[in-house]
Amino acid sequence: MRVDDIHIDTKLRADLAVREMLAATFRLAADAPATVTSGCGQQVPLAMTSGNPGVVTCPSCRAFAQREHLRLADQVAEFGLMPGSAISAETAMTAAAKHRELAAKFAGPVGG
Ligand SMILES: [Zn+2]
Repeated sequence: MRVDDIHIDTKLRADLAVREMLAATFRLAADAPATVTSGCGQQVPLAMTSGNPGVVTCPSCRAFAQREHLRLADQVAEFGLMPGSAISAETAMTAAAKHRELAAKFAGPVGG
């Protein structure tokens, strides 16, 4: 890992997405954290993280993100097939496909 590497946080920036949604809806939200736990197991400045596979340069974080997106793809696909699921199978498969697409991008070269 280089000192100027861009990482991904262990929650794949989901906390930030929730924070932004709350801020947009209610016009208030807690401050974003200054540091987050990265996929490579370190505390890093939030500003040095991204969920974009085109800019995450830390190899360990790219491998982490690939695994996590594949895991989430499997989970959402199973969720969509469950009886009484809140989302349709079609919606679940679309979400799973997006996670698999992101996983493939994290498996490839930076910016690829
Ligand atoms: Zn990292």
